[in-house]
Amino acid sequence: MAGLVPVSQWGLFPDGDRPFVVAGPCSAESREQVLEAAAALKAAGVGVLRAGLWKPRTHPGGFEGVGAAGLAWLLEARELTGMKICTEAGSAQHVMACLEAGVDLLWIGARTTANPFQVQEICDALQGTDIPVLVKNPVSPDLDLWIGAIERLQAAGIGKIAAVLRGFTTLEKTPFRNAPVWEMSTHLRTRLKDLPFFVDPSHIAGDVKYIKELSQRALDLGACGLMIEVHPKPQEALSDSAQQLTPAQFTRLKSSLKVRSAVSSDESFSSNLEMLRSGIDDIDSRLLSLLEERMRVSRSIGSLKKEYGISILQTGRWEAVMDRLRKEADAIGVDKSMVEKIFSIIHDYSVKVQE
Ligand code: PEP
Ligand code: MN
Repeated sequence: MAGLVPVSQWGLFPDGDRPFVVAGPCSAESREQVLEAAAALKAAGVGVLRAGLWKPRTHPGGFEGVGAAGLAWLLEARELTGMKICTEAGSAQHVMACLEAGVDLLWIGARTTANPFQVQEICDALQGTDIPVLVKNPVSPDLDLWIGAIERLQAAGIGKIAAVLRGFTTLEKTPFRNAPVWEMSTHLRTRLKDLPFFVDPSHIAGDVKYIKELSQRALDLGACGLMIEVHPKPQEALSDSAQQLTPAQFTRLKSSLKVRSAVSSDESFSSNLEMLRSGIDDIDSRLLSLLEERMRVSRSIGSLKKEYGISILQTGRWEAVMDRLRKEADAIGVDKSMVEKIFSIIHDYSVKVQE
């Protein structure tokens, strides 16, 4: 198992650069677009250019990337700007093409991390190299799947690894494209203490309007790096158009971000506290969205009862619900009296919306 190497020793990011930033278009679309993005990002002080060549699309028929042909554009951008280059590898073939071209950094996408067969195939192709790899979280909030991908890389001899939180598909409604579930990063870092941690606010947000708050939140939680989508003309982008910043927006964002200074014992207290509080905020938001969902179902029950002329209050049903909840609370070690209090309030409001 390769030991984890701090990002400052990867030799990719400019000295003193904090946070570490990987930025660039979602997809490489043309030579001109890649070179224009690179020039603008170089001017904004970015050291590592990203652009997807092979795009994993949910539906067939979308823009699936320019493929290996785009490698030449990335190489030219590196040649012209001195930036390092980074792209997504989703198969052994992609890895081989990137290694042959001399790409500096790879990322494993969320859909790939979710598949151990694919991750293993990638790791086999990486064996014997020491290229740095960013591992996005899997699409579902499955911590072990994420950790498993990192372990496979380490087993293949890769030590320059960072995790990238890019949000999760959840049933709960959130304002974002992918729910951040910040506490997953807390759990991840508890399990793998030296693992560098990045956040990709673009894929969490799905919309440029949330990128600033998500980026700052990421830094407050102790992320050392950010991956951000920037496109010279976002409105014309062939993928992820709504979430890509213009270079000017990116420059403003970069200068607005506040990085917490290095650790003293006091600061480690406050950053831990911040992380835990963020976990609480997240859980509260999810409770709220579950309450909203519950009220909606309750309203539908109200309509159904009305249609069939059934009375709203059916005490037998409520007793059964409470009974089940008390048992479940007991089983998972939650205070029964708290559960009774909370659910009787929820029940009162539920009856109210049915009226
Ligand atoms: C991307 O970075 O453009 C991408 C496809 O990311 P993800 O795998 O996080 O969806
Ligand atoms: Mn994208």
